[in-house]
Amino acid sequence: MVIDLDKCTGCQACTTACAMENNTLPGESWQDVLYYHAGEYPSAQLKWLPRPCMHCESPSCVHVCPTRATYKDMDAGGIVFVDWSKCIGCKYCMIACPYGVRFYTDERPLLEPDLKQVFPGQDGQQWSPPYQNPNVDWRRGIGIQPKGVVSKCTFCHHKVSQAPEGVADLDEDDPQLTEYVPACVRTCPPKARFFGDLDNPESHVNKLIGNKKGVRMLDHTGNRPQVYYLGSGAGIPAFRPAPKS
Ligand code: SF4
Ligand code: SF4
Repeated sequence: MVIDLDKCTGCQACTTACAMENNTLPGESWQDVLYYHAGEYPSAQLKWLPRPCMHCESPSCVHVCPTRATYKDMDAGGIVFVDWSKCIGCKYCMIACPYGVRFYTDERPLLEPDLKQVFPGQDGQQWSPPYQNPNVDWRRGIGIQPKGVVSKCTFCHHKVSQAPEGVADLDEDDPQLTEYVPACVRTCPPKARFFGDLDNPESHVNKLIGNKKGVRMLDHTGNRPQVYYLGSGAGIPAFRPAPKS
């Protein structure tokens, strides 16, 4: 995935589309937009950063998972999944992930009432929202989240896996491909997001990364994300604690 920060307006349409598509629990944001200040007064700027799971090439979440519930599926283009039938909710993966993109079942929503109580879940589900995506695949952490497990972005595997084989890029403007585009990419109003095959040198995403000098966030951690950022805001500074006085 490629995200162009020069185009992103921080509108959070991607965040909403993701929550709708994946029935994420109230309080969870598999695809969040993080806001932060850059610079100092009087020239400080408010900036933002869309942040899905990076589906890292060398994911620290996978390395620490004691039950192998978290795994990288090379047959699915290297997407990192959580198998809900194996996850014991120990949260090691949440600590190990440098990007803060994983969520445990009991995240507290910011807004009251807690919709989990308004639409109480059945059969181990954490909630039963009025709309429920029919795609369910516990081995890949897709569906209504059950109790006691961790969840995260799946790159909308239930959509992208249905795309015709060999397609280099999932372009929402192509009527043949629209349905297979991840919800966040398809919804983005200024078209700041792109989804394609990083292993294909001819893919549009690879050309964008090459032409616009795409960067990977927190690359020094060695996780090697499969999400690249473009644009003048893409040199995202790592958090550094203020010096002690
Ligand atoms: S961003 Fe975090 S959760 Fe996603 S693959 Fe990388 S380490 Fe794992
Ligand atoms: S919380 Fe689940 S996925 Fe995460 S490390 Fe523990 S068992 Fe693995």
